[in-house]
Amino acid sequence: MVTNKNKLSGNNNQTAFSFISQPVTSLPGIGEKSGTGLSRLKINTIKDMIFAFPYRYEVLLPNSNNEDKNILAGAFEGSTIIRTRNGKSLLKAVFKGEYGYFFCLWINFNHNYPSSILHTGTYYYLYGVTTKYDGVLSIFHPEIINKDDIGSIRSIYTVPAGLTLSVYRKALKTALNKGLKEIEETLPYNILDKYKFPNLCDAVYTIHNPNTNENVKSILNRTHPAYKRFIYDELFYMQLVMQLKRKTYNKSKGIKFNIDKYYLQVIKNVMPFTLTPAQKKALIEIFNDMISNKQMNRLVQGDVGSGKTIISFIAAAVAVHNSYQVVIIAPTEVLAEQHFQNAIKFFEKLNISVELLTGSTKKKSKETIKSGLADGSINIIIGTHALIEDNVEFKNLGLIVTDEQHRFGVHQRKTLIDKGCTPDVILMTATPIPRTLAMTLYGDLDISIIDQLPPGRIPCITKAFKAKDIIKAYNMVEEQLNKNHKAYFIYPLIDESDKLELKAATQSYEEVKKYFKNKNVGLLHGKMKSEEKRQLLYDFKNGDMDILVSTTVVEVGVDVPEATVILIENAERFGLSQLHQLRGRVGRNSLQSYCLLITSDDISSYSRERIQAMIDYTDGFKLAEADLKLRGQGDFFGTKQSGAPELKFADIIKDINIIKQVRDDVEYILMHDEELKTDENYNVRKTLISMYKDSLSYFRIG
Ligand code: ADP
Ligand code: MG
Repeated sequence: MVTNKNKLSGNNNQTAFSFISQPVTSLPGIGEKSGTGLSRLKINTIKDMIFAFPYRYEVLLPNSNNEDKNILAGAFEGSTIIRTRNGKSLLKAVFKGEYGYFFCLWINFNHNYPSSILHTGTYYYLYGVTTKYDGVLSIFHPEIINKDDIGSIRSIYTVPAGLTLSVYRKALKTALNKGLKEIEETLPYNILDKYKFPNLCDAVYTIHNPNTNENVKSILNRTHPAYKRFIYDELFYMQLVMQLKRKTYNKSKGIKFNIDKYYLQVIKNVMPFTLTPAQKKALIEIFNDMISNKQMNRLVQGDVGSGKTIISFIAAAVAVHNSYQVVIIAPTEVLAEQHFQNAIKFFEKLNISVELLTGSTKKKSKETIKSGLADGSINIIIGTHALIEDNVEFKNLGLIVTDEQHRFGVHQRKTLIDKGCTPDVILMTATPIPRTLAMTLYGDLDISIIDQLPPGRIPCITKAFKAKDIIKAYNMVEEQLNKNHKAYFIYPLIDESDKLELKAATQSYEEVKKYFKNKNVGLLHGKMKSEEKRQLLYDFKNGDMDILVSTTVVEVGVDVPEATVILIENAERFGLSQLHQLRGRVGRNSLQSYCLLITSDDISSYSRERIQAMIDYTDGFKLAEADLKLRGQGDFFGTKQSGAPELKFADIIKDINIIKQVRDDVEYILMHDEELKTDENYNVRKTLISMYKDSLSYFRIG
């Protein structure tokens, strides 16, 4: 039986064995060694090679633009071998051209090459970088080309050491000649028609062989239909996957909460303020998800200080009123602690029990809390991300709120589903991003935007100071302190090592203390125990501490409304979103607030532009846009942050219009053929399955 089965699958494999799935080493000129080198460039199969596009093009012309490359033409007169000073041999060939003599030089030449192929008196065209050798016009290691090659276009590829471009090109030529016909179209034909895109084979061919100068130009400026096709293609699958995920989430049966109007009134009565229209809108969107039987997956985007917390608290109260439990996850212990303090105040008036569970919760209370969650006597648990993984059992989990930074991953979702829960999920972002961008990146989530700050907020005034002018900044701080307001002093993590960080912070702390003699100054740093941190933050918020000097930036997600000024040292070392987050620590009431950015005396123009953006924009969405423009998308998303996909062709800023088209197209396709079963979408289905064979099951799990 087993043998039979093996045999069968073996046969199947053989019939499925296509040319393009063979290893590159089966191409002419590509040996084992080159194969290993190519493999490092992620080129393993012939198909990989076909899809490894040139990174630039060269036009073969005399005095051509590229890297001072030139074509020299002349008759070969003879050659000599010279010993260089460091003992290498150099082959010097002399040519007589129209404008005089020139040399071609080869170091470490192969004995049969090039002397064996150069014939005295024959006219040659030589291509390469020209220099002067012994005062004579020369080319090192020229390429011998044909007259017909003049004016032709060369595609330049990344090749591993030991493999020459000409060998690579020959192998690629074979790959394209034989393999291109096996490449299957990935986009629906009506999309190709709609946008007049070439089919995949033609597009691939054109990118490898642009033929004309016009083609090269339009590929480089991204307007060539072949190039646009790849942009579209890339965005299409990114969008498709997200919309599919979203559809599965929406389908997975969630909890149908009941929203009791009378209870909402009860909540309203215990609230210290009325919601802004933007908060109300977000809350209604959340309620609509809660009453439907689909599982909520909603991202709440709001600028720093826009009041996201209260929204999640209200949703939590409603869930508890429906006899469900709620988890609120914060990125750090300090933030969890702060949420907990706020939560107690809010929920105790509603008779809802809240507990805090973090890494530093004592073992004994941990056990008590865990059993309280299991038997349902605890309604709301606040903690860090570890909470979900820390084999905590719930009696009846109904809502998860994750605050700041963390996306609630597929993995955690699966963990929960395996526990038998399909709770609603609210995600709250720390870094707002422009709406169109959010739709591209978070297309799998529903999005609510709080685009308004609570009433009476005055935009923070941001000023930059050179380090040598720090006294001016200190004076501004002093003015605030004299009004009985509080101040933050932030120092960047100067060194990875804890010791140095501590030293820098302690030093600054001493300096600040010396300058502000009659003020109370506290120091917060990463090495402190969480109990100490807690006490310190408490003193800053409620006690008579005037200045908080702090190092570890992430830990400063605190809410101290009396703080009206934040001074940030070495501001050029922080990213824009971080600076904006920090600035969000002040301006949390109706007093004028200040953000003072201290920079080194001499900073780069890039840093200057970033600091200027901070001065110009107080709106986090606008700032994010500026940031994206300054940094480019690659940097903006960091390495793996936010699960942003790697884009080879598309550029989420430049291609915003294509993104919108793609989104509409994908929506239309899925509306009419959700399972991609029609002939029209055959290509899509097939491509999707081959791209995501490993993770397809997640779509269903969500
Ligand atoms: P973030 O969106 O950055 O998480 P928070 O939820 O911490 O912002 O809210 C910032 C501050 O604004 C808090 O002190 C909060 O109590 C207050 N706040 C929130 N909503 C309102 C409102 N509608 N009116 C007045 N103050 C509000
Ligand atoms: Mg918050």
